[in-house]
Amino acid sequence: MKSSFRLLRVAGIDIKIHFTFPLALLFGAFDWGEKHGSSGAVFGAFLMLALFACVVLHELGHSLVAQRFGIEVRQIILLPIGGVALLGRLPRKPVQELLIAIAGPLVNVAIALGLGLFLGFRGDLPLDGSQLLQLAQAAPSTQTFLQWLFYANISLFVFNLLPAFPMDGGRILRAILAMIMGFSRGTRVAAGVGQMIALALGLFAIFHGQILLALVAAFVFLGAGQERAVEEARILLSTLRLGDAYNKYALTLNPGDSVHQVIDYLLTSYQPDFAVVLGGRLLGVVTRDAVLQSLATGHDESYVTGVMNREVLRLDADLSLAQAREKMAEASAPVAAVFAGERFLGLINQDDISEALRIAAFLRLAHERKAEESAA
Ligand code: ZN
Repeated sequence: MKSSFRLLRVAGIDIKIHFTFPLALLFGAFDWGEKHGSSGAVFGAFLMLALFACVVLHELGHSLVAQRFGIEVRQIILLPIGGVALLGRLPRKPVQELLIAIAGPLVNVAIALGLGLFLGFRGDLPLDGSQLLQLAQAAPSTQTFLQWLFYANISLFVFNLLPAFPMDGGRILRAILAMIMGFSRGTRVAAGVGQMIALALGLFAIFHGQILLALVAAFVFLGAGQERAVEEARILLSTLRLGDAYNKYALTLNPGDSVHQVIDYLLTSYQPDFAVVLGGRLLGVVTRDAVLQSLATGHDESYVTGVMNREVLRLDADLSLAQAREKMAEASAPVAAVFAGERFLGLINQDDISEALRIAAFLRLAHERKAEESAA
């Protein structure tokens, strides 16, 4: 994320603060300063710092478990609303995701347990509701500080276990569902559950005039939808094969064809690239751009071999669309040749891949509707 600054580095992970982060300190200072003057303001700011130290430990909990599974952790970023650990990739197994997700909230349990024991020994642990309300009004002191931090860690634990993306609870739920019904369905069900919870939370917040909570609910609702979209695109890309997506009905050229023939094709079809084939063997590719360029520069090539590109990226038909897209991006090739072993099948370009994804998404939707109808 841009506009953030590195604070420190732990276990090879950069811990950064976003430039809006001081807002959280200001909020704490304002909240306590209002009641207790300038010393209250300092107290509030320190309270926020301590809270965010707990958030860092929470994110480190996720990160260290992720590293144990060989997942690279790029950085931890602190925003005024909390922290995010950016993982290099998704865990491969549901049980790994479960352990990574649960590690964060467990850190807050450990902190709360430590503070609770310490406060309990001193007889400083308020337990009932009226004492909790007093805490919000209490004068700044070490006792108030520790008590407040104790309850904050319990709140962090409970809040993060809400079974809704992007909370840890959403990931835990997805991991458990994935063990039962697979990753893809698990994600969809977990996202649906999350959106229902967000909706309920939002209605409750609006009903009680809690604007901040309503914003959180909206954030959770969008987060759940986004998680589902990302997952669906990933699955489509990794399950569809290149062999399903290349243009089987493409027009091809012979080495003896003239450039005028290609211009004719360009004017009468939507096809942008043409394979030049001789006896089933691929000689090269003629792209629309190459033809237009040759026309523009006045090089009057009469045969397609004059404008043909012989260096064509070869891809195996068994590759997934995700792998194909990656390889084409690596080679910065707008078009590639699809092969089954040594047999040339056809050409594929970036637009074909996007189009295949659109159609696959549509087909799956239709298929699901049918399944629902037959189930009803
Ligand atoms: Zn977390």
